[in-house]
Amino acid sequence: MNFFSKMGDLNAEKENTNTAVEKTKCLIIGSGPAGYTAAIYASRAGLKPIIYQGLQPGGQLTTTTEVENFPGYPEGVTGPQMMEDLQKQAERFGADNRWGIATKVDFSTDTHKVWFDDGKIIEADAVIIATGATAKYLGLESEKKYMGFGVSACATCDGFFYRNQDVAVVGGGDTACEEATYLSGICNKVYLIVRKDYLRASKAMQERVLRNPKIQVLFEHNTKEIFGDKAVDGVKLIDKNGTEKDIKVTGYFVAIGHQPNSEIFKPYIDMDETGYINTIKGSTKTNVKGVFAAGDVQDKHYRQAITAAASGCMAALDAERYLGEKN
Ligand code: NDP
Repeated sequence: MNFFSKMGDLNAEKENTNTAVEKTKCLIIGSGPAGYTAAIYASRAGLKPIIYQGLQPGGQLTTTTEVENFPGYPEGVTGPQMMEDLQKQAERFGADNRWGIATKVDFSTDTHKVWFDDGKIIEADAVIIATGATAKYLGLESEKKYMGFGVSACATCDGFFYRNQDVAVVGGGDTACEEATYLSGICNKVYLIVRKDYLRASKAMQERVLRNPKIQVLFEHNTKEIFGDKAVDGVKLIDKNGTEKDIKVTGYFVAIGHQPNSEIFKPYIDMDETGYINTIKGSTKTNVKGVFAAGDVQDKHYRQAITAAASGCMAALDAERYLGEKN
């Protein structure tokens, strides 16, 4: 047998192993605070969960710097460190942690089938969807450049670092208004950059913003560029007439919406018009028996690491109960 035919055999063998169907009691899709907390609880309950990390291993927290509001870290912790800790904690109890992205599901029977881009098909009695949401960004090069150095998509997470400073929030929906209001309690001044001549937010939220003396709403303005030396120093804006002006800010908060990562579940799982998964009140149950949802993929209101972790715990307990009743 020559080298190449040997390699051919090995590749065929690898493909066969890769495409093998695997069975598990509990499959967790997504590795943010919700996914890992579900994995900790499910593995401690002896469910031997398989957890697939998804597109952004560790979830959205890996894009933030310091996390100071997660209980148990008196000195704060970086987002990536916290996710590494959660991963280790889940693995310590036997969670089978894997790289890979779910590409397709079949939830038409009690045995839930999920296809992954590593070639595996997992058949699971219970599935916990913890795929999170992705913050939308403007798409500017400078936005990428200063990510974590003045640019953020979460005022509750990062606002504290801009105490008594001038900051800007971009967006005109409820999130932007909420973030601007939150920041006005911490910062010196908040510019709200709105591309239209009105706010899309609810009436109550609009009034709160428009009445707030620390918030200046800049209607019909867009961001041309974010500038600075090592971190953000200011923003170049352009108005509807093409007139440019600079504002000096140290923080730039993007609040133009989130996209829940729920697309592949659409054929089976009930969701609202924006793609957030509907869960049965007081639980993590979805409309499909044995499929549960936790974290930001089903929560457009709180979106905090601690609330995601809490719902991950709920999902594991719901899954455990479901499996107990099934057997
Ligand atoms: P929305 O989609 O409601 O609003 C997004 C805002 O960002 C809009 O003003 C939009 O402008 C603007 N925007 C989008 N793209 C750009 C861009 N490229 N440049 C500049 N501006 C842009 O998202 P939200 O996250 O605010 O809200 C999502 C959902 O969650 C809503 O249903 C909201 O009501 C709900 N929510 C409720 C809360 C609560 O009840 N406490 C809190 C937060 C959210 P335009 O209007 O021009 O499209």
